[in-house]
This record gives sequence, structure tokens and C-alpha cells, in this order.
Amino acid sequence: MIKKKVVISRFSESPDWVKKIDCDYIIFNKGDEIEDPEISPEKIINVPNQGREAETFLRYICENYSDLSDFTIFVQGNPFDHWPRTLEYINSDSFLDPTDIVSLGYETTTDRTGGISYPGLPIGDFQKILVPSGEPEEIHFTSGAQFIVPKKLILNKSLSYWKSLRNSLEHYWYSNIPSGYGMPTGRFIAHVFERLWPMIYRYSDTPVYKKYDYVIAGSGLFGAVFAREMTDRGKTCLIIEKRNHIGGNCYTENRDGINVHVYGPHIFHTNDKDIWDWISRFCDFLPYKHSPKVRYGDRTFSFPINLMTLHQLWGVNTPEEAKERIEREKVIFDNPKNLEEWALSQIGTDLYEIFIKGYTEKQWGRDPKDLPASIIKRLPIRTNFDDNYFFDKYQGIPEGGYTGIFDKILDGIEVITGVDYLEDRQKWDSLGSKIVYTGKIDEFFNYKFGELEYRTLEFKHQRIDKVDFQGCPIVNYTSSTIEWTRITEHKHFENSKSEKTWITMEFPKEYKNGDLPLYPIGDDQNMDRFGKYKKMTADMGKFIFGGRLAEYRYYDMHQIIASALTKAGKELAL
Ligand SMILES: Cc1cc2nc3c(=O)[nH]c(=O)nc-3n(C[C@H](O)[C@H](O)[C@H](O)COP(=O)(O)OP(=O)(O)OC[C@H]3O[C@@H](n4cnc5c(N)ncnc54)[C@H](O)[C@@H]3O)c2cc1C
Repeated sequence: MIKKKVVISRFSESPDWVKKIDCDYIIFNKGDEIEDPEISPEKIINVPNQGREAETFLRYICENYSDLSDFTIFVQGNPFDHWPRTLEYINSDSFLDPTDIVSLGYETTTDRTGGISYPGLPIGDFQKILVPSGEPEEIHFTSGAQFIVPKKLILNKSLSYWKSLRNSLEHYWYSNIPSGYGMPTGRFIAHVFERLWPMIYRYSDTPVYKKYDYVIAGSGLFGAVFAREMTDRGKTCLIIEKRNHIGGNCYTENRDGINVHVYGPHIFHTNDKDIWDWISRFCDFLPYKHSPKVRYGDRTFSFPINLMTLHQLWGVNTPEEAKERIEREKVIFDNPKNLEEWALSQIGTDLYEIFIKGYTEKQWGRDPKDLPASIIKRLPIRTNFDDNYFFDKYQGIPEGGYTGIFDKILDGIEVITGVDYLEDRQKWDSLGSKIVYTGKIDEFFNYKFGELEYRTLEFKHQRIDKVDFQGCPIVNYTSSTIEWTRITEHKHFENSKSEKTWITMEFPKEYKNGDLPLYPIGDDQNMDRFGKYKKMTADMGKFIFGGRLAEYRYYDMHQIIASALTKAGKELAL
């Protein structure tokens, strides 16, 4: 039996007619709620009102690409104004064409400049990008953009093609470019799509993208810095990003006037003036000193451990008293064998229990007795009042958030978001003289030698109806009885004025494929596996592997910038 699915883009039209549909259907509802007991809630997906029908249709294709029915029937909320016979066409198989789209509307024509209905509509410009092989002066389309399309015609184009159409529609929908056509830019782009659907389906080739010197997979800090350097030296770059936003893990989002660090708090710090100067070209840094607090039970301590912490814990007041007390606290081990023994031998039981034990257990999901001491060997314990976490000369938080930095770094550089390089690598490889890959190295090689392990975090973002939740940006929760390891209150980074506040709780988790790969597990087994992947890259001159995922290494931002500048410099010297 032929499988059909009706995809309805509704705003406020009566949905009564859908009860007469005799095949599967789904309503994308962009307007008033549908409360009709005869229409199952499973048949309704509420979505924001954006992008007109084009957005609905592209959304459906992108989200169901691997599970399409034999025929998809795309219609409006009230399909009858454009085609009174719509129900007849839906319910019968005799109108289906396995090789072409069938219009549910009256075909009409326009020219490449919008014709008389929309003079100046830049159809020709978009047509060249979307369907470069189809360039007739006269464009036939179905008013109302309603049609039946066979699965084959959708699959003739790759998923990344459909995703890039969806992204460009979204981009224009939200853009503030004045249209001059009597409607906002976004709306007229939706009209352009309406006119191009037949061509999008009928001309089988994907767009002829221009060629680039560098196609870069990943718009995180590595990809962005590399692209900027190359672009400034006259090279052409295209960035493809699989998330729906730029900036990788540095990405921030403005919520209630507060820049929320979506993937955990990011503090910029470096000792290297060149790196500081480089990044400062793209933002103003607000002065910031990182000195988180520690909550253990109902007590709050200064952190990193310093004389104030020791005063709060033991009542000591001077460096001498502190040193003496720590000496007395130390537990003697002839040869500390693991993290616990090493920590006890350095700081004794009180400090170990409060600051190390529970936190480490949660962070690494393992008993400190089973961990090597090297994980925390750098934890500073100070017998003065210095509570500055970093020793670096330069430290700050970018005013306006990190996403603003990325907008500026990527100014004038082409970026496609929502597209995974690995889903269509042959196409992207053919577009770039060289490929810069910043994703997971094991995934690049299809996990040939097995998966590299990571530790991950679940971020729970919460809006709180208070002006101030915890009085500082970061509080670490070190007790093993509390599940989260820290809470970030974002407004304190930039001293944002808002009646509300946003906090993020971090819950460490075991990583499984599909989670955010955050902290590489640098044990022997993983490093050995990584070594094998790295060896595979040795003879791959067309590819440059960079960034924390491709190098399977924890990098701070300043280190990523340094690494990207070095790799860009090497390229330019070739
Ligand atoms: C919780 C946390 C807190 C941190 N705090 C700090 C801090 O305070 N200070 C500091 O200096 N550093 C901090 N860092 C480190 C900082 O996040 C990294 O240095 C930086 O983000 C690394 O940039 P990157 O480009 O290598 O990787 P990413 O930021 O991960 O960027 C890689 C990009 O590539 C994309 N991608 C992957 N695969 C593909 C594909 N197949 N196709 C297309 N795109 C793809 C990803 O979606 C991602 O956007 C922190 C990191 C974490 C996890």
C-alpha cells in the first residue's frame, strides 16, 4: 500500500476538515491552540509563528528525512482557497506522480524580479543560490505553495541541502535588513521560497557552491580564530557548524538582559600579551577576578584554599599559624599510592574531606582511592589571603557575552549552522582546497579503533525570580550528598542589572555517544587509542586537525587561540 502523509501548516484556520483525511497527517500549529476532542493531540505540533509555510515544510523535511512516506502532501491551514479539490487529491491515489510534484493550486508565473504582485522580490538572486541549474526568465509556481511530492524528489537532495535552506530562511526571518517591499525581510523571503518550490524539486542538482581555500568544520574558538586569520590574509573560508549556533562551548545567550554561559562558565585568562591583544580586538573585557566560594553543609568557605579559608575552618590568623596547622594535620604515608593518600599527606583530613573528597567523587564518578594523584596535583593551597584562582596577568569577562566576540571574529566569513560536516563529507571536501576539522577525532575515523571516553556535565539552566541568588558568580558544592558540583549565577560576571536572575547547576555524568564531550579522560587506554587516530592523520595533507575534540585534549581558551594562530601561521608559511 502506498504510504502518504499530509503536512499542514496552520495559523488560525478551522482544522475541521482534517477529520476527513483518510491517511496519516500532522498539523504544525503556529496560531491559536487547537482544542478539538476529535483531533488527537499527537497530531498537533505547536511551533513558533515564523517563516510561513516554507518554514513548516523545511522543518518537516529536515526532521523526518530518514523516515519519509512514499508521498508527502504539503498544504496550508485552509487549503481550499487555493485548491477546492484538495481533499479529493489527498484521499485518492490516482493523482500521485512518482517522478514529479503535483500542484494543489493554480499554476501561475512570475519573472525573476517578482513580477507584478511583488515587484522587486529578489527571486532571481535566491534562485541562483538554491537552484543554480534552473535559470528560466519565467518562473512557474503554484500560488499558496501546496503540492504532493514523492519521497524520491526529497531524497534527491542531501539532508544538509535541506538544512541549509532551513537555516537561510531562519536567518532572513530574524534579520533586520529593511526589505523595502512593504513587509519585513523574513516574510518576503518566505514568499521567495513559495515561488521556488517547483524548481527546488525539479532541478536535481544541489547548489553549485563556490570553492573555498578552507572549509572548516566547527565554529568553536579554534575554527573561528583560524578562519579570521586566513580571511585577513586574503584566503576564502567557509565554516560548517553542526549546532544551531556559532561559538562552540563558549556560546552565551542573552536571557532577561543577562548573558548566560550556556555550556558552563567561561573566564578568559592568559599571561600572553599577544593572545590578550588578539582577542581584545573583538571585545571590551570587564575586569574580573575568579575567586569562587565553596559550600559544604551549611558552611561557606573562601576558595581556592587560602588563609581566609583556613581562618574560617580553624581560626588561624597568620601564615605561620596556618603552615604549622597544616603540618600537624598531614597524614603520613611512606609512598602515597592514589589521590586520596596523596591529598591526605599534603593537607590532612579536614581539608581533604571538605574540599577534595566529595567534589572529586562527583566530578570523576570514581572513588579518589581509585584515581591517580596527578588529577589534582596542581591545586593551589595558599597561606596568604590571595583568593585569585588564576595567576595570569590578564583576566576578564567579555562585555556583552562570548557570542558577541564570535559575531565579530566571523564578520564577513560565510557560516552555515545546523549542518554536520560528517553527514556529507564528500561534498564539503570537494568545496575546499583544505579542510579544517575541529570535531571528535574518533568520529572522523568512524570509531575505527573504538570510542574515546569523556566525562560530561548536564547543565540545568533556571530562571529565578530574585534579584540575587547567591551573591557571587560561582559556588562549588563539595559535599557528596549534593548531586551538583557547582552553581553559576551569570549576572555577577558582568554585573547585569535585571530584576530576575539566571543560574546554572552542573551535574557531572558518565559520557555516552551523543552527550556533550567535555573532559577527555587521559588514562593510558584512551591515550593509546588517541595515538592510533593521530597516526592516521599523518599522511592526510589536505586536512588540518585542531581544537580540543580533534586533539583529544583539554584546552583553555587562550591555549586554543595560540594553537589556532600557530596552525594558521604554518599554513600561511607554506
Ligand atoms: C564546562 C567548561 C568550562 C570551561 N571554562 C573555561 C574557562 O573558564 N576558561 C577557559 O579559558 N576555557 C574554559 N573552557 C574551555 C573552552 O570551552 C575551550 O577551550 C574551547 O571552547 C575550545 O574550542 P574548540 O573550538 O576547540 O571546541 P568547541 O568549542 O567544542 O568547538 C567545536 C565546534 O565544532 C562543532 N563540530 C563538531 N563536530 C562537527 C561536525 N562534524 N560538523 C560540524 N561541526 C562540528 C561543534 O558543534 C562545536 O561548535 C571550559 C570548558 C568547559 C567544558
